[in-house]
Amino acid sequence: MPDAWQTNATLERIAARIDAARSIVVLTHVKPDGDAVGGTLALVRAIAASRRTSPSGVACPAEAWYTGPMPLFFNAVSRQTKTRAFGATDELPAFNPELVVIVDTGSWSQLDNLADWVRPRADRTIVIDHHRNGDPDTASMRFIDTTAAAVCQTLGALCARLTGVKSPAQLDESIAEPLYLGLATDTGWFKHSNVTPAVMRLAADLIEAGVAHERLYQIVEQRDRPARLRLMARALASLEFTMNGVCAIMSLRQSDFDETGAAPQDVGGFVDIPKCVEQVLVSCLLTEMGPAHAPVTKISMRSKGGPDLIDVNAVTNKLGGGGHTQAAGARLSCSIEEAKRRMLEAFE
Ligand code: 5GP
Ligand code: MN
Repeated sequence: MPDAWQTNATLERIAARIDAARSIVVLTHVKPDGDAVGGTLALVRAIAASRRTSPSGVACPAEAWYTGPMPLFFNAVSRQTKTRAFGATDELPAFNPELVVIVDTGSWSQLDNLADWVRPRADRTIVIDHHRNGDPDTASMRFIDTTAAAVCQTLGALCARLTGVKSPAQLDESIAEPLYLGLATDTGWFKHSNVTPAVMRLAADLIEAGVAHERLYQIVEQRDRPARLRLMARALASLEFTMNGVCAIMSLRQSDFDETGAAPQDVGGFVDIPKCVEQVLVSCLLTEMGPAHAPVTKISMRSKGGPDLIDVNAVTNKLGGGGHTQAAGARLSCSIEEAKRRMLEAFE
């Protein structure tokens, strides 16, 4: 029977495997977001803390590796944790850790240049994820909970287990903070449909553990550069409505970035803005990437909840992408115009 994208290991077995490993590299998807950064930092810190408290006292050489542009808040949350960031064209070290743990994705396309490094090491790789789609051959051990709002929700339980505390409320603040970061950002600061009683209980536990949540909000949401607002003006100027006003589409070209001085990470959250229009059920942002001779268009999609919900995971699946019902994306190797045409076809 072919392997399927589903859980094949318990958190207990995963914790035991982590406990036994003498060297661990923790990875996540390209262009890491709050959940990806939070999940990787929390896990590396929990592993380090578990080794300090274990009888052997062996220091754990666990570190987090990233690829692609890092979010602006990264330096404000990474503290002394061992991390490395690679560029999109960098070759990765030949290093062979005993264990690789990938969080917040399990799809080759989301790993970019990390994929070639993971492929020969998949038999010693664990994936912990909450996405509905992924490639089972990325990891021999998988824990996939699609009901989790954030991978940090699952990691809250794993970090508690690794560090030997009964509740996430007893986690060290340095582990609780990144977990809260992931939980808060993947739920839109606790307002998306994925917020459940369990999410709120975990958030409460993490605040009890000492998370300075208001400071975290400032670090993540209130640190824009003026260039981001100039780019936002460009995105809004490009706004068009199709499908009888149900679908909002914005486009950003390389020239918009050049002329406003904005960077790719400045677009975060833009795709959500048109949802404030009453008739809009789905909002799309097309971003031109790559050189003019080999254009790549990144598509981001968000949909509003309710009886007329549009499943953007299904739409982006047709384009070779994926994600969640209300937040998904795809990358097409073509111009914005061609990508828009194919995207509208996928809505049919
Ligand atoms: P964003 O629009 O913020 O980049 O991504 C929204 C969601 O869709 C995320 O959960 C992300 O994992 C998923 N996603 C974005 N782009 C892709 C893609 O090219 N392939 C797949 N499989 N998922 C994507
Ligand atoms: Mn996530």
